Amino acid sequence: MQKSKKSKSAVNTVDSGGGLSHLTDMPAAPHSPVTSKNSPYIGRFAPSPSGPLHFGSLVTALASYLDAKAHRGQWLVRMEDLDPPREQPGAADVILRSLEGHGLEWDGDVMYQSKRHDAYQDCLDDLLAHDRVYPCDCSRQDLSAMGGIYNGRCRYRSVDLSLPHALRLKLYDTKDYPGSDECHFHDLIQGFQAQNLRTDAGDQILRRRDGFYAYQLAVVVDDIAQGITHIIRGNDLLEVTARQLFFFGLLGAPLPIYGHVPLAVQANGQKLSKQNHARAIEIKDASRNLWRGLEFLGQNPPPDLAGASTNEILDWGLHYWRRDKITGQSHLYSDN
Ligand code: GLU
Repeated sequence: MQKSKKSKSAVNTVDSGGGLSHLTDMPAAPHSPVTSKNSPYIGRFAPSPSGPLHFGSLVTALASYLDAKAHRGQWLVRMEDLDPPREQPGAADVILRSLEGHGLEWDGDVMYQSKRHDAYQDCLDDLLAHDRVYPCDCSRQDLSAMGGIYNGRCRYRSVDLSLPHALRLKLYDTKDYPGSDECHFHDLIQGFQAQNLRTDAGDQILRRRDGFYAYQLAVVVDDIAQGITHIIRGNDLLEVTARQLFFFGLLGAPLPIYGHVPLAVQANGQKLSKQNHARAIEIKDASRNLWRGLEFLGQNPPPDLAGASTNEILDWGLHYWRRDKITGQSHLYSDN
């Protein structure tokens, strides 16, 4: 599907240090990811260190690793340690040891978002200078009174800047994005997606009221800085993809290609997550975990592979990797 006009500038305007440059020549809204056949594949896994890896996050790590390596790409790891109150001390290291213990070796150095505050602030400064973000002091109650989608209220009122306030990104009705509320994209796994940025997303918080940089800011700034071309991640993030694509376009960066893998859900319908105290996967079960991950991803690993070494299982996974065999938005998973 090709809805959008093509970006005037398909040039990545972000240097490796993350300094965002020149928002002046804003591209027209490019909502269709484009990568050329010759462009390299750079994928990533971006866990938040709020707890150890559980089966659901292993599936995401495995899918993003195999998809990158099957395309002779790089696979980067970025630690999204942006929200200290929700982090568990030591979890970042536990996650990295667990990846290693499953044979999932990343390329280059791990990027830590806690060390990237200057890049986030530079981006915010540029956005502020170009009237792309605005202060907002609306409360959670205000937001729920709006039905959960922010209606742009603070675009039109003045906010006392001496009091705590958030910064929000304008997602629609912007000077040079006329009539671009509709965002369409093709997801490699979930297929055609359409979202209205005004009615389904609403202006997004980029810096929180408590002063922390928001995930929506950091994830895009860092995906650009790392030159990420393909993002394979959990299906819970499908709904925030359109707004992230908008943001890539606004920053004049090439759009990555997305694929959202099914979530592992428990019998009670809850997704496996650190918040739901999903059981940590153990390195001693690495072969079994990988085998079950391949099975979860629809790859039909042969039963006798379950007893092989992690390297053998990953080699099998790479050899037989078929992205089109991954189906569905969620699958039942039990620890037993
Ligand atoms: N850090 C996010 C998480 O653990 C993932 C972000 C992303 O893949 O874009 O859910």
